[in-house]
Amino acid sequence: MNGNAYFFHHRAAEAYKFNEEHPFDPVRLMLSIDLLKEAGALKDEEIREPDVEASDELLALAHRTDYIQAVKQLDNEADPRSKSVLSEQFGLQDGDDTPFFPGLHGAASSIVSGTVSAAAAVMSGKVQHAYHMAGGLHHAFPDRAAGFCVYNDAAIAIAYIRHHYKAKVLYIDTDVHHGDGVQWCFYDDPEVCTYSIHETGKFLFPGTGYVYEKGTDKGFGSCVNLPLEPYTEDDSWLECFEGSLRKVVASFQPDVILSQHGCDAHAFDPLSHIHCSMNIYSRIPALIHQLAHDHCQGRWIAVGGGGYDHWRVVPRAWSMVWLEMTDHKLAREIANHKKLRLPGGWLKRWRMRSPFPLPRYWLDEKKDIPAIPRREQITEANRSMLAIAIQDL
Ligand SMILES: [Zn+2]
Ligand SMILES: [Zn+2]
Repeated sequence: MNGNAYFFHHRAAEAYKFNEEHPFDPVRLMLSIDLLKEAGALKDEEIREPDVEASDELLALAHRTDYIQAVKQLDNEADPRSKSVLSEQFGLQDGDDTPFFPGLHGAASSIVSGTVSAAAAVMSGKVQHAYHMAGGLHHAFPDRAAGFCVYNDAAIAIAYIRHHYKAKVLYIDTDVHHGDGVQWCFYDDPEVCTYSIHETGKFLFPGTGYVYEKGTDKGFGSCVNLPLEPYTEDDSWLECFEGSLRKVVASFQPDVILSQHGCDAHAFDPLSHIHCSMNIYSRIPALIHQLAHDHCQGRWIAVGGGGYDHWRVVPRAWSMVWLEMTDHKLAREIANHKKLRLPGGWLKRWRMRSPFPLPRYWLDEKKDIPAIPRREQITEANRSMLAIAIQDL
């Protein structure tokens, strides 16, 4: 058993699925959990049901009550006209990014329940680390759904931590999209620092996350953004990440870290242009884990997020967060670039269903990710951005 870390998962989160064609697909949760089991890193009895109920009061820590009521009402609304008025008003219309589906409120609130349960387990001192893969829906706004996100579990968990424990929270968002919903929730709060490294909003949803977004009023300085160039590769991505995050932690001095592990900055991801490999998904949790122990007495809550190559990228990336969190020997071996094969049982079970040939190893092979010809210019542009992002720290 992993005494130092809890793994939260709720079956209801597997119903958070908009439609068959939608890029957000909970199959990635099943694939990731199965990979961890096959790797010998997770047992059935270690998977915990979330134990904090997602009441309206809890949801209201980050959302307006008329929005919460509307999401609930849509489930029971028979009149098609009021259905379409409501869904349009709250960002849930058909044909848009985040379309309403029956059962949405239950599925979305189960995700909140998982992330807040993880936060509660860590803050109450039951355990040092907790992981909730289904969480990380960072684009949801107080009064509307956006970018596949309905309830902002990360923002709610941060508000919960503030409310019950008054701890200083560092939110780290490595999803390829700017963590806008969480940022705006705490933009004027000096006790919550939001850090987001992402593809520049010049070319990618949600179009924000510029380096000059640094917080407002008392919160000025407690918001850090690193917008990177399209086609950024591993070395430049990691240079910016490691060069900024250490400084942010040293200057902000958080009591707890909540990290969002969207893994859509991978070269295979269909929704973005960043060109990284699995290497960054081994390094990200390793650095965060170390910082949590060095600065926060180990307090670390991790959630999932974006990631739209469900078969080749997400299971490996999200498994590596748990391997790191539990000090599993595989995490060290992967970090040392040992050419480790993925478990045969996992490959065998999913090979026929995957639309792409599945990778054979935990890390990508060189041939899988073609080099980008403009590497030098991209690296230089990112380096200048990094200098601006950390100039006041
Ligand atoms: Zn994303
Ligand atoms: Zn640890």
